[in-house]
Amino acid sequence: MEKISTTENSTAKISTDCVIAGGGPAGMMLGYLLARAGVDVTVLEKHKDFLRDFRGDTVHPSTLQVMHELGLLEKFLKLPHSEIRTANLEIGDRYFTIGDFTRLPTVCKFIALMPQWDFLDFLAGEARAFPKFHLLMETKADDLLTQDGTVIGVAATGPDGPFEIRAGLTVAADGRRSTLRDRSGLEVQDLGAPFDVLWLRLPVLPGDPVDLIGKVKNGQLFVMIYRTDYWQCAYLIPKGGFDAIKAEGLDNFCGRLKSIAGFAAGRIDDAIPDFDQIKLLTVTVDRLKNWARPGLVCIGDAAHAMSPIGGVGINLAIQDAVATANLLGPVLQQGTPAFADLKMVQARRAFPTKVIQAFQVAAQNFILAPTLRSMTTPKPPLLVKLFDAVPWLRQWPARFIGMGVRPEHVKLAKR
Ligand SMILES: Cc1cc2nc3c(=O)[nH]c(=O)nc-3n(C[C@H](O)[C@H](O)[C@H](O)COP(=O)(O)OP(=O)(O)OC[C@H]3O[C@@H](n4cnc5c(N)ncnc54)[C@H](O)[C@@H]3O)c2cc1C
Repeated sequence: MEKISTTENSTAKISTDCVIAGGGPAGMMLGYLLARAGVDVTVLEKHKDFLRDFRGDTVHPSTLQVMHELGLLEKFLKLPHSEIRTANLEIGDRYFTIGDFTRLPTVCKFIALMPQWDFLDFLAGEARAFPKFHLLMETKADDLLTQDGTVIGVAATGPDGPFEIRAGLTVAADGRRSTLRDRSGLEVQDLGAPFDVLWLRLPVLPGDPVDLIGKVKNGQLFVMIYRTDYWQCAYLIPKGGFDAIKAEGLDNFCGRLKSIAGFAAGRIDDAIPDFDQIKLLTVTVDRLKNWARPGLVCIGDAAHAMSPIGGVGINLAIQDAVATANLLGPVLQQGTPAFADLKMVQARRAFPTKVIQAFQVAAQNFILAPTLRSMTTPKPPLLVKLFDAVPWLRQWPARFIGMGVRPEHVKLAKR
């Protein structure tokens, strides 16, 4: 990173090989990989730290594999985390095991659950060891800088005011409400989502199962994710339905929760004294028609917001970052990537994204939405009974969720 203008009354200008807007999983992993390969990279993150509301804590086996390939796994797993080895479903009063991560062909045969800020802090700490890594916190990417239709960097605002950052490659990794994607003119396809999610926490007590449990009962869907000292819980509601739930009152809502929370029902009144304890996730499923224009490529949620089904958003973001580094790292080591180079990212990553989104859209339209509309408990589908009855089969849903489609491996060498 180099200062190219600091005269008074003129906007400060900085230059770098690659500027990445967004220090989420996609942006931080890409920043780490490029800096490790000797590319000068600058990550802009609008928040002053990584500490914020729950935003998904799942570190999937494929991400752990990437950490292993980078030689970071052992150190990473020393951070406090919990490990989930099976996925389970409770339909009415019947319990089914439908996924088994212990049979996966990866180095870690589990999903690690760790607060996203710990994961990002860890990546940032490791990346800072590389002299070509620059992380500008409290710095918001406001707009794209363009010249003859090519993106040549970003107009940003940091703690000292506005400045410009020029780069041979600009990456939009600024999440599903991406500013740079908006400014780019790239077209978004909305795939629709008929439900939203209410996130809440319940206490863990001795003797609780160490598991991931989905519960389906009387038109309600509830997911409990074991987090060592608390349960991270998701309660699914019809799209836009949170205001109606609030209008019905807290007692009604807690009553509904108690009817589905099973062994944790008795903890609800104390854990949820008001609606402030509930965080609404407005579910969006979309993707860009084209992920790139000259000088700019979008990755992670900025290219494709995922449904929370399967908890795969972080995983896909990391996989996009690895693929982008593999494809564009060698080009950046030599100079500026051409538009054709940037299009290769979509060519590589669109297929896995489309497959997972097709599964999510089918699940939300044919299973979740009808269940939320009905007041009855559905019959267990044949596939669920089959996974439960034949343990060997349980590796396949675990593979789909835990490793995704066409998992990426680190190919860009350290320099
Ligand atoms: C409540 C909730 C629960 C979730 N649960 C799960 C889960 O269990 N498992 C899972 O895999 N996924 C989950 N997800 C989705 C997951 O968080 C995302 O898919 C994943 O974080 C995408 O990574 P990303 O790096 O592409 O984008 P993000 O994680 O959204 O990161 C984007 C970053 O860019 C920053 N930023 C935004 N705009 C700008 C700007 N203009 N300039 C500079 N910086 C900017 C943001 O502050 C943020 O740090 C959940 C999401 C939410 C909201």
